[in-house]
Amino acid sequence: MPLSSVNPANGSVLHVFETWARPRIDKALGQAARMAPEWRDTPLDQRAGLLRQAAHVLRHRRDHFAVMMTQEMGKLLTESRAEIERCALVCEYYADHGAGFLAEEPMPAGELDARLMFQPLGTILGVMPWNFPFWQVFRFAAPTLMAGNTVLLKHASNVSRCALAIEEVFRDAGLPTGTFQTLMITSAEVQRVIEDPRVHGVTLTGGDGAGRAVAAIAGGVLKPCVLELGGSDPFVVLEDADLDEAVSQALVSRYRNAGQSCIAAKRFILVPAVVDGFLARLKDGVADLKPGDPMKEESTLAPMARADLRDELHQQVQDSIAEGAVPVMGCQPLPGKGAWYAPSILDRVVPGTRAYQEEIFGPVACILRATDEEDALRLANDTRFGLGGSVWTRDRVRGEHFARRMACGTAFINAMVKSDPRLPFGGIRDSGFGRELARAGIRAFTNAKTLVRR
Ligand code: NDP
Repeated sequence: MPLSSVNPANGSVLHVFETWARPRIDKALGQAARMAPEWRDTPLDQRAGLLRQAAHVLRHRRDHFAVMMTQEMGKLLTESRAEIERCALVCEYYADHGAGFLAEEPMPAGELDARLMFQPLGTILGVMPWNFPFWQVFRFAAPTLMAGNTVLLKHASNVSRCALAIEEVFRDAGLPTGTFQTLMITSAEVQRVIEDPRVHGVTLTGGDGAGRAVAAIAGGVLKPCVLELGGSDPFVVLEDADLDEAVSQALVSRYRNAGQSCIAAKRFILVPAVVDGFLARLKDGVADLKPGDPMKEESTLAPMARADLRDELHQQVQDSIAEGAVPVMGCQPLPGKGAWYAPSILDRVVPGTRAYQEEIFGPVACILRATDEEDALRLANDTRFGLGGSVWTRDRVRGEHFARRMACGTAFINAMVKSDPRLPFGGIRDSGFGRELARAGIRAFTNAKTLVRR
């Protein structure tokens, strides 16, 4: 099956790529395996220099890559530019800090002279999604390469142009052939690649269905696996919150990238005192959003990445309404070609509705009404996901007490959840396991080896 790139703003086909036959896949695996020892033995400062060079290539061609991303998956051009900048930053972050994170650690063990060291595992496969076509890859690749592993990328089928462009970034930065390779394959070939003895670990970012499939395969061959899956992040507003600030961040968190972010605020949990004030402000903000050509600066809401994803979102919304949720704004596709969905608000989302139970991966804010703070916490944690969450209150002590009890990998107080190279990122429950970024991210695919001398 070929890999098709379609512009979601207008439905036009940009490019159809042939997938690789088995011998071509085998050649790439062979190259990665041959390069692995050489890359492992390349001094850390040289690896850091090459990552800095990758950051330079990204910045130098930022506008070119940004246009490519916007055309292929629909995000606003301004967001695409910011994404390229962030990729450059994560390369520089690991160039600056990688050696320190990987430094040997003395282990206090009485009479023994013991140390802990972090050695690369070999070749790591990244199975990546389309929602942040550059960032998701760099977030994994920069630390994994800095740690001394070679990398294979299986990108989502709808962003092959970006996938090839990322390979070009590393090649033009001067990384040796075979260090980073994009595989032009569908998900049907992923099992074979994970099971290949020349591959030593896998990470997947995407939906929990894909995560389960990849984790099962990795488990079958006992290879380490990091999963960064979906979320249904709560955004809890207590009665003493700064509502203007909360709503302005709610709008960014929910409608940026057309709502297609794992850490977008998806469930807005409101205590009674803030329901009217929050909803009135949110409605004003949503009314001001301007869906339009993502290449134009004046557009503030992008199309969704694919028509089938838009249709699935609409089905979730319609089913939720049939189950008792109340449409407040939007809740329907926008007319015209392309994968457009109206910026939407769905109120009175209660247990038993699809919107309560599932990840809503599009521009739809779900409102959950809590009876009080404890009920808000119960609702926040009543989900099979556990990626991020935020709580809004002017009382920092109260906010911290609440955040500590949230069942998630990252909790923010009075700020929307963001990923940041300096902070570990990942989830619990159906949001996956393992951590990316910061020190945890570079150690994910290393052998933490204990060395003892007597
Ligand atoms: P998927 O989760 O299906 O795809 C993510 C990546 O996994 C892609 O590279 C995909 O390849 C690959 N993949 C899918 N199924 C398998 C499998 N069985 N074995 C190996 N690899 C696999 O994303 P979708 O585009 O289908 O989106 C579905 C839903 O997933 C969204 O609505 C959203 O809820 C969630 N999602 C969450 C993301 C997040 O950041 N948390 C990101 C993207 C999606 P291919 O493209 O070839 O199918």
